[in-house]
Amino acid sequence: MGKELAKTYDPKDFEERIYEQWEKNGAFRAHRDPDKKPYTIVMPPPNITGQLHMGHALDQTLQDVLTRWKRMQGYSALWLPGSDHASIATEVKVVEKIKEEEGKTKEELGREEFLKRAWEWKRLYGGMITKQVRKLGNSCDWDRERFTMDEGCNKAVVEFFIRLYEKGLIYRGNRMINWCPECGTSLSDIEVEHEEKNGLYWYIRYPGVDGSEGVVVATSRPETIFGDVAVAVNPDDERYKDLVGKMVMIPIIERQIPVIADPYPDPEKGSGAVKITPAHDPNDFEVGQRHNLEKPICIQADATMNDLAGKYEGMDRFACRKAWIKDLKDAGYLIKTEEKVIPLGGCYRCDTIVEPMLSDQWFVAMEELAKPAIEVAGNGKLEHMPKRFEKIYLHWLENIRDWCISRQLWWGHRIPAYYCDTCGEMVVTAQAPERCPKCGAKMRQDEDVLDTWFSSALWPFSTLGWPEETEDLKYFYPTDVLVTGYDIIFFWVIRMVFSALEMTGEAPFHTVFVHGLVRDAEGRKMSKSLGNGIDPLMIIDQYGADALRFMLTTGITPGNDIRVKTDRLESARNFANKLWNASRFVIMNLQDEKGIIMPVGSNADGIALKDEDKWILSKANEAVSYVTTCLDKLIWHSRLSGCMS
Ligand SMILES: [Zn+2]
Ligand SMILES: [Zn+2]
Repeated sequence: MGKELAKTYDPKDFEERIYEQWEKNGAFRAHRDPDKKPYTIVMPPPNITGQLHMGHALDQTLQDVLTRWKRMQGYSALWLPGSDHASIATEVKVVEKIKEEEGKTKEELGREEFLKRAWEWKRLYGGMITKQVRKLGNSCDWDRERFTMDEGCNKAVVEFFIRLYEKGLIYRGNRMINWCPECGTSLSDIEVEHEEKNGLYWYIRYPGVDGSEGVVVATSRPETIFGDVAVAVNPDDERYKDLVGKMVMIPIIERQIPVIADPYPDPEKGSGAVKITPAHDPNDFEVGQRHNLEKPICIQADATMNDLAGKYEGMDRFACRKAWIKDLKDAGYLIKTEEKVIPLGGCYRCDTIVEPMLSDQWFVAMEELAKPAIEVAGNGKLEHMPKRFEKIYLHWLENIRDWCISRQLWWGHRIPAYYCDTCGEMVVTAQAPERCPKCGAKMRQDEDVLDTWFSSALWPFSTLGWPEETEDLKYFYPTDVLVTGYDIIFFWVIRMVFSALEMTGEAPFHTVFVHGLVRDAEGRKMSKSLGNGIDPLMIIDQYGADALRFMLTTGITPGNDIRVKTDRLESARNFANKLWNASRFVIMNLQDEKGIIMPVGSNADGIALKDEDKWILSKANEAVSYVTTCLDKLIWHSRLSGCMS
């Protein structure tokens, strides 16, 4: 007897075994074959902190389908896998681990020892996620696996930084940033999650120095009053005409500040008079710049008040707010309290309310870099599928602000800038300078690391060898399709596009294939706090990787979210089971007496096709041509499953 498939379909019985065979035999290895056309996808690198989640499962299944399809069409198809060092997320986890196991803070441990622990973490957990990627059956080229902090990627990051710096596109500045007191680092604008919450506005009187009534200002953050340097009113606001140029007093602490005229205050809003705190509010910062005002900081990095707050020094910002309001009320300076919807920014990592704060940081000047990225969307060199996501892409680029790239963390790419404390010289260089080129004193490296996205922005070309002109880069770059969820367009896609255009002169891919998010059965986003996450590995264990993948790929419509439902998983498994049984039947019936399997439909072998054979072959061909058309256009919808039923 020849080969016979097992009676029951049991994916556990073969999925892993077959994957190992594939990998061992180099089935996924892409070759630089001059006779073949390349087809390249870089895998959005999962974080080394993470477990594989359903979002990865969907994202990667789509990439696998495209890669396998092109491979079958005779392309030299490369799907390049890797993982991301995830600066903030990993540092938070490593800090927790050290606290738990050694009872120490990272400062007590010191930078060098801390980094040793972080690399250890990477060795332990970084491998876990790639094992999980294999469980999905993904056909990526593991020989080309990369990590955002491996030697080549490090080199690319430093090169990118230096080139932008030398062009004047990276600068260091004292600017307003979003500060997370819990994570102890700055955040870029898009790492802040904006929410509207019911809150309070307090109306507080600043009496005139001359004993007059002075002016009433409204604020939702009274603890920042200690950093006030002026009260601004609109020059067209008749109510305050006479006050401009006069001095008022911050109540209780009795510091004198001027009333200034500036277009920023809206006479319709609040009292029409605005307190100006340049160090803790981005709009106030602008006003401060226009009027050459000082920028005193009153809230410290750990969100406690400093000595400017007088008797509240050392108190947490919110505890201070409470005590301060009570004191203002008791002293008769609190005029009224108003309930209002207040915009709040929370840290995307830990939900802590971010504090806008003035700080020395590194920035990428975005205006010039954004222009070519806008152009490629207009001239067809970069397509979004579905097309509607181009709007989001363009909206972000057209309203882009400079990108704060320094993070007050240790895990990541350290900024290649060196300072001389003796003469104030700064050098940006790949090699640590022995001595200060100006005065010969020792130099110290910038303490900060770069935003994680600064390295993932280079992913499509750093992984292929850039800045070296490698054979891989020449053959496989630019890549073809980037597959990603819509939630990451501005975090990542935009940054890859402008970085690639600036460094390689080409868009990093011709198509951005955008899919939706995977939600639970009720349509809620899966999250740790809700505890509604579904572990794809559990699903694979229960239903098999094929069923999971089939459910995900047939359940989506372009760019829309998908819900994971048990009945859909069951029917996906039933479909796999049906294929199994059909194959089993065919294999059993196509064996000759020696157990050799005879080819189907090969007329050349003298097999006469019956009408029903012809019918089913024509149906199979129809399905192939339909699927090919859909994949060609990247039209991905449930009819794909329709043509397989
Ligand atoms: Zn945080
Ligand atoms: Zn010097």
